[in-house]
Amino acid sequence: MTSIESRIRSLGDELPPNVRLVAVSKFHPASRIREAYDTGQRVFGENRVQELVEKQPQLPPDAEWHFIGSLQRNKVKLIVPFIACIHSLDSERLMLEIERQAAEINRVVPCLLELHVAQEESKSGFLPDECRKFLAEGRWRDCPHIRISGIMGMATFTDDETQIRKEFRLLKSLFEEFKADYFAESPSFKEISMGMSDDYPIAVEEGSTMLRIGSLIFGARGRGILKMEG
Ligand SMILES: *Cc1c(COP(=O)(O)O)cnc(C)c1O
Repeated sequence: MTSIESRIRSLGDELPPNVRLVAVSKFHPASRIREAYDTGQRVFGENRVQELVEKQPQLPPDAEWHFIGSLQRNKVKLIVPFIACIHSLDSERLMLEIERQAAEINRVVPCLLELHVAQEESKSGFLPDECRKFLAEGRWRDCPHIRISGIMGMATFTDDETQIRKEFRLLKSLFEEFKADYFAESPSFKEISMGMSDDYPIAVEEGSTMLRIGSLIFGARGRGILKMEG
């Protein structure tokens, strides 16, 4: 067994059946993604549009691609034809552009509301109150080509387990709040995308339905590359 194969298998054994694994393949070549595919993994996550559109045609058509990075409006058009889920819906302007492009090709695109709950400075994600306002304003109701399927969030990058757990709990409680207030009648509002290589066991305990795991499966990406391309 290759290491990719054995890591995917042991994650598969470890995870409850209701938790889906998004294998985050950013910075890794199609040949390595193919190894994961051959193990049975079908869901892959990428955070840069250019890289995604280069790799997507190199994998079989039943591979499912999730977009997990910050998405520029002028690039929405490139991924809307095939993307299975956009985890990073974090503004009305982005929503309107996804709606416009999806309507154009008559596709419905599942999207998650990205929430910013970590202590780090970050440009991406709604603050909880911003998201409440976004939902209350209701323009999403006029976007029939977007299916809001849940939420996504990241915990602070820290060794403090209590802090991480607190943030995952907050994400879960925001999910429950939004579900009750706006999506009680929508069975497709069901995803809580939280948990990465370093914190996924806590995320599972706190109710994650989707883990986004990269380095644990594919190996470290190397800070140098991250810096250069980020
Ligand atoms: C890179 C990335 C991940 C995966 O991170 P790992 O620590 O490699 O598991 C998850 N979510 C997002 C948004 C990412 O950018």
